Amino acid sequence: MRNFEYHRPGSLADAVALLRANEAAKLLAGGQSLLPVMKLDLAAPSDVVSLAALRDLKTIRSEGNTLVIGALATHDEVANSSEVQGRIPALASLAGGIGDAQVRNRGTIGGSVAHADPSADYPSALVALGATVETDRRRIAGDDFFLGFFQSALEPDEIVTAVHFPVPERAAYAKFPHPASKYAVAGVFVAKTGGGVRVAVTGAGTRVFRLPALESALAANFSPDAVTGGMVDPGDLRQGGESSPEYLAHLVTVMARRAIQACL
Ligand SMILES: Cc1cc2nc3c(=O)[nH]c(=O)nc-3n(C[C@H](O)[C@H](O)[C@H](O)COP(=O)(O)OP(=O)(O)OC[C@H]3O[C@@H](n4cnc5c(N)ncnc54)[C@H](O)[C@@H]3O)c2cc1C
Repeated sequence: MRNFEYHRPGSLADAVALLRANEAAKLLAGGQSLLPVMKLDLAAPSDVVSLAALRDLKTIRSEGNTLVIGALATHDEVANSSEVQGRIPALASLAGGIGDAQVRNRGTIGGSVAHADPSADYPSALVALGATVETDRRRIAGDDFFLGFFQSALEPDEIVTAVHFPVPERAAYAKFPHPASKYAVAGVFVAKTGGGVRVAVTGAGTRVFRLPALESALAANFSPDAVTGGMVDPGDLRQGGESSPEYLAHLVTVMARRAIQACL
């Protein structure tokens, strides 16, 4: 790991100012993704700007039919929040299945979505639930947030402050976890709302994606029987990894059936 300057600003405005003043600066939340890439020399920030003093960003609250989770809420806090368990139990369960106890105790929802790892769990929930990412300067629809492989819509000096999740009628997440890291080899989040059904897949592609054919089939018949093999094209999935695209396509259909079953 290279040398860097460490900062612990006391306000969001100061954190943004530090990012603007230092082009090669990086934010630090839970450090569960940033520190491993720094140790591997895949990132060498000149300045590390810790968000630890911004305690307001930890709040989890309801606003009408929306659950608002502060960017610094850890995976463990989301998993064990009575607010999340009561309003979107599938989200609490997803958070409880991330990594191991250390990762859940340090890692944050804001860090996870900003990192835009194609195998992370949260992106599927954001897209399936039609969530909105709030930053220090704007709101970005979950559909527009994850642009590609570790690529989000955030500007280099932009800070995620919260994620707004509309509360669905029913929702469930099923993942086939990597046996070592617990990242999703394939994870499927299914959400049924007054506006219809949304299905989002993580792990199997180079970024989270939806399954429109399955969404239409579920709108007509909300049952695991609505899932058919042809709904996932192996050609659209990740190539050259540990799992073949054909295997990933099969896993997605199995996870989709499990998630739908769990909604019933
Ligand atoms: C062993 C291991 C297993 C894991 N297993 C899983 C798993 O099963 N599922 C899963 O989803 N994830 C998994 N993870 C990743 C984990 O969820 C991380 O916590 C998450 O990816 C990053 O969150 P963080 O708070 O640690 O962010 P950090 O590591 O601090 O930051 C990550 C990136 O986001 C940026 N950033 C952080 N906060 C913000 C913010 N508020 N606004 C803008 N940018 C920000 C940072 O600058 C950095 O580029 C695992 C990690 C490890 C080490």
